[in-house]
Amino acid sequence: MKMMIGGERRDSVSGRVFPVHNPATGDVVGEAPLGGEDDVLAAIEAAGEAFPDWAAKSPRDRAKILFFAAEEVRRRNTDLAALLTAEQGKPIREAVDEINGFANILEYYHALSAGLRGEFANLKGYGRVTVRRRPLGICGAIIPWNMPAIIMGWKIGAALAAGNTMVLKPARTAPLTCMRLAEILGEAGLPPGVLNVVTGPGETVGREIARNPGVRKVSFTGEVGTGRQVALDAAPAMKRLTLELGGSDPMIVCDDADIGAAVEGVIRGRYYNCGQVCTAVKRLYVSDSIADEFVRRLTARVETFVVGNGMDRGVGMGPLNNRAGLNRVVNIVDAARERDEGKIVAGGRAPEGEQYKRGLFFLPTLITGVPHDSVLFSEEIFGPVLPIAAVSGLDEALELANNSRYGLGASVWTRNADTIARATEELEAGIVWVNQHLRIPPEVPFGGTKASGIGRENGSRALEEYTEEKAVLVRL
Ligand code: NAD
Repeated sequence: MKMMIGGERRDSVSGRVFPVHNPATGDVVGEAPLGGEDDVLAAIEAAGEAFPDWAAKSPRDRAKILFFAAEEVRRRNTDLAALLTAEQGKPIREAVDEINGFANILEYYHALSAGLRGEFANLKGYGRVTVRRRPLGICGAIIPWNMPAIIMGWKIGAALAAGNTMVLKPARTAPLTCMRLAEILGEAGLPPGVLNVVTGPGETVGREIARNPGVRKVSFTGEVGTGRQVALDAAPAMKRLTLELGGSDPMIVCDDADIGAAVEGVIRGRYYNCGQVCTAVKRLYVSDSIADEFVRRLTARVETFVVGNGMDRGVGMGPLNNRAGLNRVVNIVDAARERDEGKIVAGGRAPEGEQYKRGLFFLPTLITGVPHDSVLFSEEIFGPVLPIAAVSGLDEALELANNSRYGLGASVWTRNADTIARATEELEAGIVWVNQHLRIPPEVPFGGTKASGIGRENGSRALEEYTEEKAVLVRL
């Protein structure tokens, strides 16, 4: 496939490409241009040329294009989902959901954008005061490989609806779906240069987007360390930043919880997308009075899981997306095993069998009795491994839950109104769920506190994050 710059499908300036592999089979799924700084400069130029006309369009005219694109994406869901599964690894039903999720986001901002307006006041002594909302200009988006379509939607939906143009860099191991989605937006009427996609390495393409002074805002999703580098690179030009970084979401299961529902909550919350979700359940704190029963039922449920190629019928969990990610998961589990930190009651290794030999598979893993100071709790595990500890009650659970550098999501499972009131107040997180985890509709602001990031995406306020206010005071 080609990059999308100024509405044209282009090769990279270097003419080089890189292969994209299917993580379930190792086969090459496709290739993408190996972009570099020059390609980013060309994309910034195209985005700059497109900006005045795009910003001058009425919000309704911009929104219509997003709506047409969403319709087309839904119509082509089957092909897009197959491409997403092939390059990313997730089971096909999750890919279908993700593509629909992308369309949902575009439709949401289509519906919202006409409501983007400033303020007016008649202030005695100052005359008529208007506060206008202006788009920022060229915005940059740098995204990871775990949920490429959804995260692309979060970034482009609000930015384009608000009248900005954009240069977007997908991750190296999952760029193809993003490129195809950008093509569909072009076919739906998005003018050339409004959305440009440059593929290639983070150290060149990503860094140029972060530091080029022509880019007025950078929205980054990825690891904490990379986010810090992006912030440093963006600082000299005083750019606006949204940083959606890592998470280590705690799930607290109280003694009055519906155990069956909470077990299913773990299954979806931890093993969806092979555990490679920023807001996956990454630490489980369960009340000691129900811990044995909970672990027994959870283990039985985990053992029913079918691991395999995401395209195969009945597969509940696919492979990890990339070798580095798999190695990190293997290392952290091996280290815990060597230090005798907890007991592996399910998984803990790759599945056996000819069909798994070429893929990046790891079994869904449960580790019980994990000491509170274990790296299994302090590090973000971006894979299908769940450390579990029994706790004496809500006080201890909340203390442990908040004892993390991360603060992305958290959930509490209980039927007690006082527990809900206290936990939702005290949990340090950008999003708190009660008796559910992981679900994020486009209407809900999303982002983290502490090391999990800065700013919010999604929701109506995201439109404001992609605009700036200009105050005008008129005295006649
Ligand atoms: P990553 O930080 O390695 O890469 C993210 C993107 O940044 C990629 O496109 C990469 O090429 C690019 N990049 C790498 N170095 C760069 C640099 N120096 N300058 C600019 N760009 C650079 O992250 P990943 O491994 O792709 O994704 C997994 C991480 O993302 C996890 O920590 C996960 O929790 C986090 N994540 C967060 C959210 C959220 O919304 N908070 C959502 C999904 C994933």
